[in-house]
Amino acid sequence: MYATDSDELQAARAQLVTYSARLLDDGLAVGSAGNMSVRLGDVVAITPSGIGYADMRPADVCLVTPAGTQFAELTDEAGRGNAETPSTETPMHLAIYAATGAKAVVHTHSPEVIALSASRDELPAIHYQITGLGGPVRVAPYVRFGSAGLAAAAVEALDGRSAVILRNHGAVTYGRDLAQAYDRALLLEWLARTYRLALSYGEPAILSAEALAEVAAEARRRRYGERRGGRP
Ligand SMILES: [Zn+2]
Repeated sequence: MYATDSDELQAARAQLVTYSARLLDDGLAVGSAGNMSVRLGDVVAITPSGIGYADMRPADVCLVTPAGTQFAELTDEAGRGNAETPSTETPMHLAIYAATGAKAVVHTHSPEVIALSASRDELPAIHYQITGLGGPVRVAPYVRFGSAGLAAAAVEALDGRSAVILRNHGAVTYGRDLAQAYDRALLLEWLARTYRLALSYGEPAILSAEALAEVAAEARRRRYGERRGGRP
């Protein structure tokens, strides 16, 4: 159990503010749309609802239990507590932590994946880097934002993947830390854009399951080699 004033959680809150600003800079969301969280043991730090990323401070980042109960907030030297409400998508973040080994979750409203979600059921393997997301990325059916139904649909479509596209809504990625979850959100948006560009030439060639399995096996072999000192 992490104390809610631990150094690790303070660092996580600061990191969430930094990455939230990147969400705007990288064009993955506008205004206060999208949200992200980090899990440290029995505490989930999650961005607050309705605060523009430009105005967000680390103290505004909310702390909840994996079951969704908000921690009674500590007050700062001036006696101010955190009066913010956790993200409206908190149920989806918590459902993903419960169903996977995720340590961080990033939810974007990025334009390329939203455009794709309106007309496709899946982002196919236009490039081998999609193995970094577990393979072709499914589009989960539309369910209203903030609902338990959306959380369930996202978890189901994540099976064997670290990314899911939410129809007419956005995307969710997760990772072992916030940096990895965020990089996956960028990769997903890039893959969707690349697929759209490929479609402009006609019907694109899509990598087979065998080709993707070969890439994944080679990536595992190389990672193993790195751990062994560069000699696979
Ligand atoms: Zn959303």
